[in-house]
Amino acid sequence: MDKIIFTGEKWRVPDNPVILYTDGDGIGPEIMDATRKVVDAAVKKAYKNKKIAWREVLVGDKALNLKGDRFPEESIKDIMEYRILLKAPLGTPVGTGFKSINVRIRQMLDLYSNIRPVKYVNGLQSPLEHPENVNLTIFRENTDDLYMGYEWKYDSREAQEIKAFFKEKLGIDLGDDTGIGLKPMNKYKTQRITRAAIKFAISENKKKVTIMHKGNVMKYTEGAFREWAYETALNEFSDYVSQDGSKKILINDIIADNMFQQIITRPGEYDVILAPNIDGDYISDAAGALIGNIGTLGGANVGDDGAMFEAVHGTAPKYAGKNIADPLGLIRGAQLMLKYMGWTEAEDIIERAVNKAIEEKTVTADLAKFFNVNPLGTAEYGQRLVENI
Ligand code: NAD
Repeated sequence: MDKIIFTGEKWRVPDNPVILYTDGDGIGPEIMDATRKVVDAAVKKAYKNKKIAWREVLVGDKALNLKGDRFPEESIKDIMEYRILLKAPLGTPVGTGFKSINVRIRQMLDLYSNIRPVKYVNGLQSPLEHPENVNLTIFRENTDDLYMGYEWKYDSREAQEIKAFFKEKLGIDLGDDTGIGLKPMNKYKTQRITRAAIKFAISENKKKVTIMHKGNVMKYTEGAFREWAYETALNEFSDYVSQDGSKKILINDIIADNMFQQIITRPGEYDVILAPNIDGDYISDAAGALIGNIGTLGGANVGDDGAMFEAVHGTAPKYAGKNIADPLGLIRGAQLMLKYMGWTEAEDIIERAVNKAIEEKTVTADLAKFFNVNPLGTAEYGQRLVENI
């Protein structure tokens, strides 16, 4: 058992790396159990000497029940020490002032790139006529923007003071019944997510990087994101990137609302979408719908010295404990983890096992309806993938 050492670009991964996992809330424990079994089977098949040393961290409902705290101190300590986590979805109580644990982990480890690949899988029902054209990767900035959580209730002391300042210094009268949220957009943070997106485009042979923003309205936040992203891409990667198509990678930009239209009407024209935090959040769910189901999408949250892998979807509370949820989103997250670890043989084995299950129409309830077949339960589907390995 050993720690993964993060050294910026490349990770040093021992043969028995400690990887943290958390069961999460709702459907989390069921999909995590299936996912870990699939990952262990694929690693065993791919390598003689390698095996993940899973270590559980208590977070969310389970931590509340066992430790009286949704995010106990010892879990925080483990995350800071081992710095790599496979995470099942966690619920966020709405409107209680409780800061999302997902957001806290991203901030603790400074996981500034949220990477969400969206690729069509043959056979799934999509609202598009040609869903096979969908093969996008969204690079969502993960540490800036409205998600920083600088928000104040309309009648809080802070909101009243901020409003008094605006009124006095800028002549802006926001009114007593207005809540306040802050939308920061930072140059350094924009530069590093841009570098991550361009490096990915170079290494994965992508042809186009599109900056998504609403800079026409929010000039000094999303407009600045657009400007800094262009500057970084064109100045630092001038051998690869151009605006006129003369280099390997074309960079362009699209206003956020148009981006939604574009991925529906011309998905094949988009490769990598580089977006600020909020835009990236919205567009990834919309892109997920294009390929039939967000339950099948995984994501990575990667920084310079840490990473967290997850499903894109949430805790799906209505399916919790019923053995019907689809574990594929979390399995996709785990595949991304294997890719970042350099264990690509294991990742490929899982890819083939998933494709075989889809070809044979052995799927969970969310996909079974498309194929007109009886669904497998979460555990049985996981077992089928293990058998396919
Ligand atoms: P959700 O993703 O949980 O559910 C949206 C829809 O998709 C529901 O109809 C659900 O039943 C279905 N669905 C999602 N995953 C599925 C799966 N694996 N198999 C089958 N069907 C699936 O979104 P929501 O209802 O808006 O959120 C529920 C909770 O999850 C909230 O507390 C929210 O904060 C949390 N959430 C967590 C994360 C995360 O941990 N990364 C992400 C999104 C939402």
